[in-house]
Amino acid sequence: MRCLKSLRKAVVKCISQVLSNPSNTMNIAIVGVGLVGRVLALNLLRQGHSITLFDEDSAYGEAAAGMTAAGMLAVFAELESAQSSIFDHGNRSISLWPSLLKQVNIPHAFKQEGSIITAHPQDYSELENFIFTLKSKVNQAEDIELLDNNGIIALEPDLEQHQKAFFIPHEGQVDSQKFMKASSDYLLAHEKVTWYENTSINKVSEGCISIGIEEKKFDWVFDTRGLGAKKEVQNLRGVRGEVLWLDAPEVDINRPVRMLHPRYKIYIVPRDNNRYIIGATEIESEDKSPISVRSSLELLSAVYTMHSGFGEARIVKTMTNCRPSMKDNLPFIAHGDKLTRINGLYRHGYLLAPAVVEEALKGLTWLKKLK
Ligand SMILES: Cc1cc2nc3c(=O)[nH]c(=O)nc-3n(C[C@H](O)[C@H](O)[C@H](O)COP(=O)(O)OP(=O)(O)OC[C@H]3O[C@@H](n4cnc5c(N)ncnc54)[C@H](O)[C@@H]3O)c2cc1C
Repeated sequence: MRCLKSLRKAVVKCISQVLSNPSNTMNIAIVGVGLVGRVLALNLLRQGHSITLFDEDSAYGEAAAGMTAAGMLAVFAELESAQSSIFDHGNRSISLWPSLLKQVNIPHAFKQEGSIITAHPQDYSELENFIFTLKSKVNQAEDIELLDNNGIIALEPDLEQHQKAFFIPHEGQVDSQKFMKASSDYLLAHEKVTWYENTSINKVSEGCISIGIEEKKFDWVFDTRGLGAKKEVQNLRGVRGEVLWLDAPEVDINRPVRMLHPRYKIYIVPRDNNRYIIGATEIESEDKSPISVRSSLELLSAVYTMHSGFGEARIVKTMTNCRPSMKDNLPFIAHGDKLTRINGLYRHGYLLAPAVVEEALKGLTWLKKLK
C-alpha cells in the first residue's frame, strides 16, 4: 500500500493550531460521502470532531460505487488477482466492521459465515488452480476446506447438484445497501455533522475546496470523491462493474457463492427474503450506462447453471458503476498540507475501507489530540 508521509511542516503547523485553539476543535471537511467518506466520518465523530460533508449526490448516496457494491468481505478469494497486502487490511477491516455497523444501529448487517467456491466439472482445473494460488500467497489459506457432495449439502442443501467445492471459513459480507441507508440516517441526525448535499466540488486543494467560483477554507480537508477526484489524482481510473438483483423464491442459499469459469467469475450474494445480488462484470471502461445484453446473458446463464431455481427468478433491478482504481489496483493514501486524499479502493471498498481509513488517520496523529 502506498502511503506518502505527511509533510513534517504541515504536522507541526497543525499541532500548533490545535494547541492555540482553546475550544480544541477543528474545522474538518470531507468531500465525497460514498463508502470511504462515510467510514471516515464515523471514525472522526468517534474521536469527537465536528465535520462538514460535501457530496454532489443526495445524502442517500444512490450514485456512489458503495451503493452498487455487493459488500463481500472476500479476504481470501480476492487474493487470486490481488497482492497479499490486501489480506492483512481485509482481516483488519473484518474485525472493525461490527463496531461501525453497531455505531449506525445495524449490527445485523454483518455476517461472517464463510463462502463457497465451485465450478462446472469441466472447469475443475480452474478451481484447483485458484485454490493453489491462494495457498501460495498466504499460509492461512490452508484452512480452506475441500468439500465433496455431502460436505456441500451439509452447508448449503440447495447446491446439491455440485460434486466439488471449497469452503472458505473466514469470509463474510456487509449488507452494503443497509450500511449506506443507516449511515445516511445517522450522519444526517448527528449534531456535529453539517451536510451539503447535491453540491459538486470541482477542486479540492490544501485546506480549501472550490464550489464553482466560491472557495471555502478548512483546517483540514479529506478528499474521498472516488472517481470524482480523477482530475487531481494521477493515474486514477474507473473499472466498470455490472450487477443484477434477482428475487428467487425457489432458491435458498445462505452464504456468498462464487463460480469459477475461464472467462468470468460470478458471485451470488444472498440478501434477506430470497433476494440475490448476481455479479459482477469487470470491464476496463468508465461507462456507467445500463448493463449490456452480453453481460446480462453471461451472468444469468451462469447463475442458472448453478441452480435451476433461478430460471423462475424475477430480475428486480440492475446496477452499473465504476470502481475507483489506481494503476496497481491498490488503495492510495496521500497526506499534504491540510489535505488527505484516500482513493483507489477498486473492487475492495468494503473489504478494505475500515482498515485504510484507520491507517490514514494514524498518519494524522495530531487529530487524536482533539478528543
Ligand atoms: C459492481 C460493483 C460491485 C462491487 N462489489 C464489492 C464487494 O462485493 N466488496 C467490496 O469490498 N467492494 C466492492 N465494490 C467496490 C466498492 O464499491 C468501491 O471500492 C468503493 O465504493 C469505493 O469507495 P469510494 O468512497 O472511494 O467511492 P464511492 O463509493 O463511489 O464514493 C464517492 C463519492 O464521491 C462523490 N463525488 C464524486 N465526485 C464528486 C464531486 N466532484 N463533488 C462532490 N462529491 C463527489 C460521489 O457522489 C460519491 O458519493 C464493488 C464495486 C462495484 C462497482
